[in-house]
Amino acid sequence: MPEQSKSELGIVYLAGAGPGDPGLLTVRARDLLATCDVIATDALANPVIVAAARVSNPGVEVLDVGKRGGSAASASQDDINALLVRLGREGKRIVRLKGGDPLVFGRGSEEAQALAAAGVPFEIVPGVTAGVAAPAYAGIPVTHRGVATAVTFVTGHEDPSKPETQTDWSALARAGGTIVLYMGVKTLPRIATALMNGGMSSDTPAAAVQWGTHAKQRTVSATISTIADAVARDGLGAPVITVIGDVVALRKEIGWFEARPLFGKRIVVTRASAQAGGLRARLAELGAKVLDVPALRIEPLDSAPLRVALASIGEYGWLVLTSQNAVAMLWDAIRAAGRDSRALAGLRVACVGRSTADALLAHGIAADVMPARFVAEGVLAEMAKRADVRGARVLYVAAEGARDVLPSGLRELGCTVDVVRAYRSVSTRVGAESLRGELERGDVDLATFASASAVRGYVEAVGGELARRAPAVSIGPVTSDALRAAGIDVVAEASEASVDGLVAATLVAAVE
Ligand code: SAH
Repeated sequence: MPEQSKSELGIVYLAGAGPGDPGLLTVRARDLLATCDVIATDALANPVIVAAARVSNPGVEVLDVGKRGGSAASASQDDINALLVRLGREGKRIVRLKGGDPLVFGRGSEEAQALAAAGVPFEIVPGVTAGVAAPAYAGIPVTHRGVATAVTFVTGHEDPSKPETQTDWSALARAGGTIVLYMGVKTLPRIATALMNGGMSSDTPAAAVQWGTHAKQRTVSATISTIADAVARDGLGAPVITVIGDVVALRKEIGWFEARPLFGKRIVVTRASAQAGGLRARLAELGAKVLDVPALRIEPLDSAPLRVALASIGEYGWLVLTSQNAVAMLWDAIRAAGRDSRALAGLRVACVGRSTADALLAHGIAADVMPARFVAEGVLAEMAKRADVRGARVLYVAAEGARDVLPSGLRELGCTVDVVRAYRSVSTRVGAESLRGELERGDVDLATFASASAVRGYVEAVGGELARRAPAVSIGPVTSDALRAAGIDVVAEASEASVDGLVAATLVAAVE
């Protein structure tokens, strides 16, 4: 190969993806994923992490170079090493993403050896290893004062009954600390026997954790003499971490993840993607597997009417905003006009719901009217109580297709109402395919709806028949009506139209 100066060389980041929960990715790895040229991912790295990287780094090339249990289709380690060296020599910045930590049973060090030998620069970005994280999410500390002063990470890949095994199981049995076993679901019966033959007490606690830190985590607790049967009976298969030692008993006391109120529930989030973040994060924190279907996308409409209204904003007495999107569109228009919140000085503002009021407050403006019932009728009733509404000129920023209740009610109060349709919600097809599959299999526990238009978007995306397969949680009466009209069972309705309200209603529905 021709002489190559250092500066033309790329760099390979041998980075851990963590055990599964995307929140356990390191900041360093996330930054690199957002800026690299190529991601070479292995089979264990959570695809959600790669999908997020594609969003933050749209140009990135993703190579799936997983080694799947020696299947013929998967790349050999030599091929992977050669690929990393070649890409590095092409001057690329490559993230070699591996499940857990790259150097813990991850062969990252073999890749580093190949890169070092080829003179290609590399960096190692440690990750949270499954052998620590899966037990932690099962409520098992790998060490505990007075219980275990040592921990051994060991691969169960080798058959302990074969003479060439490198692991001294009877020494491990006598050592007395915690044993964390990677791989080895198939070899577990023989490993357990080898440990007991080596002197380990047959009632030593043991637990197997499948898909640790994922929403689908499953844990089986037993003893070293019964764990292999328990794993077989419950049908646990790779990836599984098995923990052996007295620390396993602590699970009863400090198990937390699987005890979360929504643990194991599969819940659809149908809010428009711009707003889904808060809701999906809250549900995930409560243990739910969130099926994220951005059923709606917010599309701004022609901004000219809003610009015109803003130009004579001083003539209005009231401003009515019906959603966070209306706030966002208004703000874009204000900023585009080179103005700021002072443009709204002197105006009274009514908001339909808490989230809308919060979005407005983020710009330094507190709503004058926010009804107890978060529907258009509620705003109207509150506004009707105020003397300064009668005869006022009102600017109403709304979505395409918004109901006429508010403008016509205000006109009855003698107001002059200018309705500006600033945006529309459009349904997107993204994610609809996999969701249809989930609904068909009956794998969806609940679907959450934050607006009547989200109901329409959902029905459009999955079809009316499948939409009726999962019960709904609704943000308020208007959304509930739309759900019932679509034949969807409403099992809970938020008493307050906000993310908090929707989360509370979801909790009620999930425990029933
Ligand atoms: N480098 C990885 C381990 C790779 S070896 C790490 O540091 O975690 C592959 C084995 O890791 C699997 O067979 C399984 O034993 C374990 N493993 C990886 N992710 C896991 C998870 N989320 N839950 C349980 N075990 C996991």
